[in-house]
Amino acid sequence: MKDVNCIFCKIANGEIPSKTLYEDEQFRVILDLGPATKGHALILPKEHYANLYELPEELAGETMKLAKKMVVKMTERLKCEGFNLIQNNGDMAGQTVFHFHMHMIPRYQADGQKIGWKPMEVTQEELEETRNEIVG
Ligand code: 5GP
Ligand code: ZN
Repeated sequence: MKDVNCIFCKIANGEIPSKTLYEDEQFRVILDLGPATKGHALILPKEHYANLYELPEELAGETMKLAKKMVVKMTERLKCEGFNLIQNNGDMAGQTVFHFHMHMIPRYQADGQKIGWKPMEVTQEELEETRNEIVG
């Protein structure tokens, strides 16, 4: 399924040109227009799924397999020293384009980016409560 109002549907299916690194029947991998670092790329499924909640399990698996291949290739070519894989779901999590995508961000010495979070302080009891909420 495609969404006629979705920019990533149009890019993934070739209606809007993009700097494509890889394409097959299911995916297109493109360079991000606002890269965090040199080589920042996005894996786009050609079918429209808004986020990870909607994405079929099989495609989720295929996304990670493709990420692995792309990361290996880009590391060789770009001579980067590490990679962040990031995948945002929902406004609150920073998602701005509501067509599932996986960010692949090459990391270089002194690239000036900081991708992370401020760790909270929690007690063992709080961790146990959270665990129970999830699996209890
Ligand atoms: P999100 O915040 O939804 O996880 O990430 C959306 C990403 O898509 C951003 O990094 C943004 O730079 C990128 N982006 C938005 N519009 C376009 C576009 O038209 N072309 C490309 N190549 N990237 C885009
Ligand atoms: Zn779409």
